Amino acid sequence: MINVIQFQEMVGISELELQAMSERQDQTLAFSDEFVHELKNWFNAHDISPDFPDLDQAIKALYQTIICNGVMDNFYESISKPALQWYRSGLRQTEVMMMLSQMRQFLIKKAEQTNCRELAHAYCRLLDMVTSVFNTFYQLMEERARIQQVIKDELKRFERNFHLLGLEMPKDLVKPYVAHQNWKVNVLDLALGLKRSEQMTELDETQCQLGQWLASGGIEKIPSTKQSAFLEDHRLIHEYGRQALKDAQNHHPEQILTYFNKMECASDRLGLVLLNLIEDEFIHLATSDHLTGLSNRRAFDQEFKRTLAFAERHQMWVGLIILDIDHFKQINDTYGHTVGDEVLQQFAKVLQTQIRTEEHPFRWGGEEFALLTMDKKPGGAEKLAERVRHAVETTDFQVEDQLSLKVTVSIGSLCFQPPLQLPNHEIFAKVDKLLYQAKENGRNQVVHKTIHNSKEV
Ligand code: GH3
Ligand code: MG
Ligand code: MG
Repeated sequence: MINVIQFQEMVGISELELQAMSERQDQTLAFSDEFVHELKNWFNAHDISPDFPDLDQAIKALYQTIICNGVMDNFYESISKPALQWYRSGLRQTEVMMMLSQMRQFLIKKAEQTNCRELAHAYCRLLDMVTSVFNTFYQLMEERARIQQVIKDELKRFERNFHLLGLEMPKDLVKPYVAHQNWKVNVLDLALGLKRSEQMTELDETQCQLGQWLASGGIEKIPSTKQSAFLEDHRLIHEYGRQALKDAQNHHPEQILTYFNKMECASDRLGLVLLNLIEDEFIHLATSDHLTGLSNRRAFDQEFKRTLAFAERHQMWVGLIILDIDHFKQINDTYGHTVGDEVLQQFAKVLQTQIRTEEHPFRWGGEEFALLTMDKKPGGAEKLAERVRHAVETTDFQVEDQLSLKVTVSIGSLCFQPPLQLPNHEIFAKVDKLLYQAKENGRNQVVHKTIHNSKEV
């Protein structure tokens, strides 16, 4: 980008040139209809059709604005208005550059006819500055469109992922991310003059929605090793935003793009942290059971594969235990589904009290649960299964305040040393068979099998 102020200083429009422009202003304005005619021909020849209700009027207005505003103090402000209109007309950046180049040639031609060298020079410089403002404007508008597209794409991606698994979007995490992106769009709108500064009160980093989210506990959600860098990036983003606006208000657009680029670097880092929070939440929700908070079957499949691989590498014994609450349907039928749910939640708590800290229970589905163990010796799984059975039998399940229920569980338990030369679903089928035997034998019991030799399979 050409730096407007530096450009002015570098080439400096001399007093003579300024004088030439102002003396001939009326004369040049009188050519506006001719310019409209020439430019429309050029548009036709290049198959360019800007979307204006009245194209003649739009071209004329651009011409007049440029000629009348010359080298005024509010040059940026006056030129940015037509820049916005031409951007909205659908004209692309390269096309608008070519259009301004047509205007430059037209003005030079007219200036040369007057035999005034200063005038030709002056118009050259004027059009260079106009081009620079249009350039800045177009780049900022494109940045604005890009950020809005990012918000849309990310939201769509999350919605698709969460809805695919029937999960609710974590609005408390999505909101600060979207608010931050929208905040940048707001700052761009102010810098571009699309909004007035009274319309934005969140320039301070404690005032914006992200800042308020951080202050009301959001910061705790960010991993502790990333917190200080996050806060620093947030501070920097606001600092660059304020600087960009100061430049815009003082009609110095030359640094705005630089500030926005710096802002985007910090915002990319900050955005990544926020996106990771949403993704972590997605993984958590996708792999845990809503009712009991235990890991779900999806998590179990992953964990089972990992456990088998680890046990095989370290010659460990794996225990796979499947538990099924006895006559659970009766509980639902007698006391209602809500009581059934409470029993499931308490059952999950009983499981958690019986296992080691490195192990965790899974809700397999309905009233079925699973446990995975890993030991240097066989025998651990059977002991754990019996311990859980006993704990369930002796627990009073307190539901709906007053009611205390007794519950029993049947358990199939298998202990083996991987590899078993069996696909995983056949290992499950074996445990299922053991569980079925426990039910057949009268429930409230463990049927266990240890495979000592993989040939037994
Ligand atoms: P068995 O001893 O043979 O296992 O008998 P059961 O009644 O426990 O087994 P059955 O498979 O006939 O019934 C399981 C019941 O579990 C039926 C289903 O409505 C209930 N159930 C499954 N998921 C939930 C849940 O999330 N909440 C509640 N309240 N009930 C559930
Ligand atoms: Mg069942
Ligand atoms: Mg059951």
